[in-house]
Amino acid sequence: MAVYKKTEHLADVVRRCPHHQNGDAADHRSHLIRVEGSQRPQYLEDYNTKRHSVTVPYEPPQPGSEITTILFNFMCNSSCMGGMNRRPILTILTLETSDGQLLGRRCFEVRVCACPGRDRKTEEANSAKLQTGAKQVKKRKSAPATDPNMCKRKSGSSTDEEEVFMLPVKGRERYNMLKKINDALELAEKEAKNKTRASKELLPSSGKKRVLQKAERSDSD
Ligand SMILES: [Zn+2]
Repeated sequence: MAVYKKTEHLADVVRRCPHHQNGDAADHRSHLIRVEGSQRPQYLEDYNTKRHSVTVPYEPPQPGSEITTILFNFMCNSSCMGGMNRRPILTILTLETSDGQLLGRRCFEVRVCACPGRDRKTEEANSAKLQTGAKQVKKRKSAPATDPNMCKRKSGSSTDEEEVFMLPVKGRERYNMLKKINDALELAEKEAKNKTRASKELLPSSGKKRVLQKAERSDSD
């Protein structure tokens, strides 16, 4: 049985489009799913729900095979106007006893198209584009828009004062010593800035400090 996937279409019965029904003389021409290669398919329409289904008797696998193959033909494209009309569908397979007792059930999405390979490539490309697009939006969002100084620092000044230098230091003791000196300089700078804070309320904590933390990490690595 085929059903529409989205809740807003779920109540509609999945049928073939009028165009494809017209050119077909079969009694079950309005059924989307057709069984091929079996002599005993039964096309049913539920008395209450009007939903279409097709049953086929279970046959044990052919000698030398471990599975039974049943061929289904989907008689319309998902894009068929007046039929599925681009609405996604699910196909429900059930295994039942002859008196209708349910033994198993599987459900999967089916899309019927004229060029599956091409459509797949297009959709994969679109989804990749969407994903990278989402990332870019995320990046843009997380970039602090409330920090005009950062942009200035990046693009504008390249003075020796703002530039960051890396200094490889041999031995932890010497590193700690140099770090103390640097911390002291940072602190002094910070205090000097605090004095003029009134005029520079928006200034972020120094970029130097952040880079120093990076240097610390690489040292312990
Ligand atoms: Zn059609």
